[in-house]
Amino acid sequence: MRALVWEGPRRVMIREQAMPSPGPGEVLVRVAFAGICGSELSAYLGHNALRVPPLVMGHEFAGEVVALGDSARGHNPALREGTQVTVNPLSSCGHCLYCQRGDNHLCASRQLVGAHRAGGYAEYVVAPATQALPLPEGMSLATGALTEPVAVAVRVGEMAGDLGGETTLVAGAGPIGLLVLQALQQRGARRVFVSDLAPERRAMAEALGGETLDPRAVDVVRTVREATDGLGVALTVDAVGVAATRAQTIAATRNGGTVILSGLHEETGVIPAADAIRREITLRGSFAYTPANFADALGRLARGAMRLDPWVVQADLSEGGFWLDRLVDAPGAEAKVLLVP
Ligand SMILES: [Zn+2]
Ligand SMILES: [Zn+2]
Repeated sequence: MRALVWEGPRRVMIREQAMPSPGPGEVLVRVAFAGICGSELSAYLGHNALRVPPLVMGHEFAGEVVALGDSARGHNPALREGTQVTVNPLSSCGHCLYCQRGDNHLCASRQLVGAHRAGGYAEYVVAPATQALPLPEGMSLATGALTEPVAVAVRVGEMAGDLGGETTLVAGAGPIGLLVLQALQQRGARRVFVSDLAPERRAMAEALGGETLDPRAVDVVRTVREATDGLGVALTVDAVGVAATRAQTIAATRNGGTVILSGLHEETGVIPAADAIRREITLRGSFAYTPANFADALGRLARGAMRLDPWVVQADLSEGGFWLDRLVDAPGAEAKVLLVP
């Protein structure tokens, strides 16, 4: 089969590989679409300790079950050959403290398809049967492949809680920022400011009902403070994760408000800790999604409640290197690139 193999910083190649075969409790999925994620861009550059080359990345995918390993149906009776599925790529032990309370994403032995094992940038991928979710009636495979990033935003929305009538700020209008914007609207936010350097990305946020800010042209913190009687917003989300956006989201948050840190661009960095302390700002990390968030995300896509259309681009797997470079160097008017093996 054909696979896009990441072989080192800024180096991917199409390689012929042996077909994988599903072990006990696993399924073989013929990949229809596999999205490129921001975390894979940093990995592509060699900035991600989790991913070691050579590796077939790809953890946002949908496809068709073409073979079932021993007892796979015992683990997931909904599956048979031909079932169209999306895969929750984050699997866990299932019995530790975190798994028992539904926080499987915090499990110490969690594993990600496309990082710990070969992922969806290939014609076929093997995944645990328990992690495969049949697509709802009528959902396209291309839409199904968006479930993973939508689940990330659903998690942020869950942490944000009820935002009835509040004003909020999202730093970053990449795919996660655009989906978080929608998740905050669904939580009742009256206004969502969205900041991003790229005009194409601001245009997408605007089309989704965000009020956009160009950090090079306006003072983001001052603008959102002016919009909130000088107080600052109740909730901010950093969907970028660099020192500037971490500082900005803290400064833009009102006393006693909450900052949700989602973007992982920089591992460490200086934040204005004393300001957060003196103004009793709550800083919350948000990582990935629970299994419940993942199922919720699939439901929202089915209802048309979350979208990245019309900014989803489909490209042949062999163009993966081109798109990885482009998304790193000069992201344009595409919110999500789906590779087609
Ligand atoms: Zn992702
Ligand atoms: Zn566990």
